[in-house]
Formats: sequence, structure tokens, C-alpha cells
Amino acid sequence: MGYDSAKARRIEIFPMDNSPFSAAPPTWVQAALHATSFCCPSCGRTSQEAKAVWINRRSPVYVEGLYRRKWQEFYQCDCGTSWWGWSSDRTPPAWLQARNAEATDDSTDSE
Ligand SMILES: [Zn+2]
Repeated sequence: MGYDSAKARRIEIFPMDNSPFSAAPPTWVQAALHATSFCCPSCGRTSQEAKAVWINRRSPVYVEGLYRRKWQEFYQCDCGTSWWGWSSDRTPPAWLQARNAEATDDSTDSE
């Protein structure tokens, strides 16, 4: 169950009441639009400003040639629009960018 502790770090990004990792999707997910630019398709707010988030971790997609998976991230915008994007399309949070920067000096790392 090591992955649970890894996921727990991500929760810090979303200081919200409802857990983004609950097994059952919230109802607003059903009306979500696919936002290819990873921001609200109606008003342009970013995922950081969403009032709720849910991550579909039940069906991760393995990205060929990359060391990580991608998954659907659903966001409920303050304007009332629900949208989703692939996690791989999201600008990484600051802590992840820092970690990636540390890792770039070892290009053979397949971890
Ligand atoms: Zn919006």
C-alpha cells in the first residue's frame, strides 16, 4: 500500500473539504467537459481555482515511453462549469517541478 502515502502528498495541493480521491465520483463529474488547455472552458479559470476536484484513479492510462501514468482529473469551477483534463496536460505544481528539475541531471533514471 505504498502508493497511498505517495498519493497523500498530492492531496496537499487541493485544500478542499471533499476528498479528490474518493472512490465514487461526485455527481458534477457527469456533466464535465473535456478541457484540452487544462483550464475552465467557460471562464478560463485554472484548476488551482476550482472549488472541487475529483481524480479518476480507477482507470489510469499508461503513457507509452514515459515513467508515469496519466489519469482524468475533474474540476468543478466556481462559475458552475465542470471540466476535466488529463493529468499529463496539467502544469505540474511547484513541488513537482522542483523534483523534476533535480532529476534532470540523471537522464537514465527510469524510476
Ligand atoms: Zn469557469
